[in-house]
Amino acid sequence: MSETNPRDALVVGGGVAGLTAATFLARAGLDTLVVNDGEPIVRRNAHLENVPGFPAGVNSRLFTDLLSEQADRNGADRLTGRVTDLDVLGDDDPLFRATVETDDGEETVEASRVVAASWSDASYLEDTGVDLRAAGSKTYVDVDDLGRTAVPGIYAAGRLTEIYHQAVVAAGDAAETAITLVHDSGTAFYNDWVAPTGYFTDRGREVPPACEEIDADERARRERESREVMREFFAEPHDEPQRTHPSLVDDELGRLDE
Ligand SMILES: Cc1cc2nc3c(=O)[nH]c(=O)nc-3n(C[C@H](O)[C@H](O)[C@H](O)COP(=O)(O)OP(=O)(O)OC[C@H]3O[C@@H](n4cnc5c(N)ncnc54)[C@H](O)[C@@H]3O)c2cc1C
Repeated sequence: MSETNPRDALVVGGGVAGLTAATFLARAGLDTLVVNDGEPIVRRNAHLENVPGFPAGVNSRLFTDLLSEQADRNGADRLTGRVTDLDVLGDDDPLFRATVETDDGEETVEASRVVAASWSDASYLEDTGVDLRAAGSKTYVDVDDLGRTAVPGIYAAGRLTEIYHQAVVAAGDAAETAITLVHDSGTAFYNDWVAPTGYFTDRGREVPPACEEIDADERARRERESREVMREFFAEPHDEPQRTHPSLVDDELGRLDE
């Protein structure tokens, strides 16, 4: 199966960076697809203690489940598969075609813009003109201060760009990159804020694009829903076994049963 309609944004990699980028892109109204193959590296962590908002820490596998849920609820689509190649099609307007290997065979996905958040694989970018930098066994993607690569329309985020190796750093970097992409696409956007009724309008301003004013009932409804969702996610211990470094275990999935 091949997608013919170009997506607004293709995000390669569904770890902390990719899922955060997807949430920001989808919330800005861009038709966004995340393609992920394999396990986000943070799932090897034994207990995440330094992510803001979790005073007693959080199970890292639960944390990435929450990021997936957030991307889904904000309208991003997700596909399991490995991007093996990326063709640059557009001349004036950026357009890209990704080859994706899935369990059902090969698919192609076209998109106007691409965010590479695929630590630690940059091989599919090799023929695109993006600047790649080898350092030991790793390859990093060169970007400007806002996540743009040398190829207009291709962005990179997360550990793949050699930022510091923390989840919140990857998330912040990806959010900044996504907002840069939104601006570059010409989409009307202001801050992605949800404010109480009147916050803008009582001062004679229109509600800016990508912002909302919500009344007390709607605020209470959203709070109720957020509490229900979080209660459900935290109701039971996470059922997935703890991972360790794949080189330390000999089963083919690289996991240990506790
Ligand atoms: C053992 C361990 C403990 C850690 N503990 C902490 C901690 O306590 N606190 C903290 O802040 N940070 C911690 N980190 C670091 C943190 O996990 C990372 O810095 C952060 O998660 C990087 O996010 P990322 O999205 O850039 O990469 P990843 O989360 O690795 O996401 C990349 C995703 O892309 C997928 N992918 C790769 N290539 C392709 C492709 N071609 N096509 C499709 N998908 C692809 C990968 O499988 C992966 O799912 C820890 C890391 C490890 C290994």
